[in-house]
Amino acid sequence: MHPNLAITPDYSLRQLNTFGIDARARAYLKVVSTADLGAVLADPVLAAMPRLVLGGGSNLLFTGDFDGLVLHMCMQGRGIAGATDSHTLVRAAAGENWHGLVQWTLAQGLGGLENLSLIPGTVGAAPIQNIGAYGTEIKDVFHSLTVFDMATGETRAMDAAACRFGYRDSVFKQSGGAGLVIVDVTFALPRAWRANLRYAELAQALDQAGVRDPDPQQVGDMVVAIRRRKLPDPAVIGNAGSFFKNPLVTGEHCARLLAAFPALVHHAQGDGGEKLAAGWLIDQCGWKGRRMGQAGVYEKQALVLVNHGGARGADVLALARAIQADVAERYGVALETEPVFV
Ligand SMILES: Cc1cc2nc3c(=O)[nH]c(=O)nc-3n(C[C@H](O)[C@H](O)[C@H](O)COP(=O)(O)OP(=O)(O)OC[C@H]3O[C@@H](n4cnc5c(N)ncnc54)[C@H](O)[C@@H]3O)c2cc1C
Repeated sequence: MHPNLAITPDYSLRQLNTFGIDARARAYLKVVSTADLGAVLADPVLAAMPRLVLGGGSNLLFTGDFDGLVLHMCMQGRGIAGATDSHTLVRAAAGENWHGLVQWTLAQGLGGLENLSLIPGTVGAAPIQNIGAYGTEIKDVFHSLTVFDMATGETRAMDAAACRFGYRDSVFKQSGGAGLVIVDVTFALPRAWRANLRYAELAQALDQAGVRDPDPQQVGDMVVAIRRRKLPDPAVIGNAGSFFKNPLVTGEHCARLLAAFPALVHHAQGDGGEKLAAGWLIDQCGWKGRRMGQAGVYEKQALVLVNHGGARGADVLALARAIQADVAERYGVALETEPVFV
């Protein structure tokens, strides 16, 4: 194996995934530079191994051991990268902690990322599923990113069009993104910042706290407070956030469901389609707070599956399948899972 790479064989991944699943990797490498990725490619043994690019492990479920090389993205660095007439450009390396970056931008007086406060994981993974919360998605503040192509060994820039962002989706989750490792991301933060309070829960919370005309830091602080109330802390109970995506259905399908279930929670999408609240559907099927073995549904938010301690990936999957079957039977809606299964 490559003499300059500190490869560790048979590595425990338990501390590297927020579900706390006890899986092992055949080999592990802490990646601190693009040169490390080039060195992996240059080594015939390493280059031939199956690869898993790992950030903070907060959006994946290990369903067994990983018989390959884990590339743990630990590249650090962040700063102002330039400016346009209307935006400040901020660039951060893939291994930077996402929430750390959000806080740093707020400390610089730069607004734009505040609604995405406290999402776990790394900067490099944020574009993968176009992370979103409280009415903002990465694509709204995105400028460009740099990838290292494991197929060719080349480094190149990609703009928003090339990333093909969608709801919890991007080219990196499709076949066109295979082998691309994100090494840094650049954000365009607006100089003429305006609070995004489209999400009613956030607007109401600020209002109740007596905060009128909030600045970016105040919005970020409120998002943190709401999330701490609602979501389980992975340091206390293993989870990967929302386990299911909110399903998109046609207006016609939604109208039929509303006739049978008048309390159905739905949001018009502007294109005639409707987004349903997966958490509401799961809750109505009686799953909130229930457990199957060591896997369970979080008592305060039915979208989140949790590890009560010692659950295997297969236990979490079995629970997810049972929930999907119930929702499909009662509502005729197919729930898609959000985390990546490894
Ligand atoms: C409590 C909790 C709350 C959450 N809330 C939200 C939320 O509000 N909104 C939201 O969108 N998500 C949320 N998530 C999901 C998760 O935090 C995000 O998807 C996050 O971006 C994942 O980052 P990560 O570094 O942990 O990625 P990982 O889990 O390590 O990886 C996820 C996927 O990205 C790939 N990947 C990682 N880094 C790179 C890279 N540099 N280049 C190429 N591929 C890469 C991996 O191979 C894997 O396929 C939440 C999770 C938890 C635990």
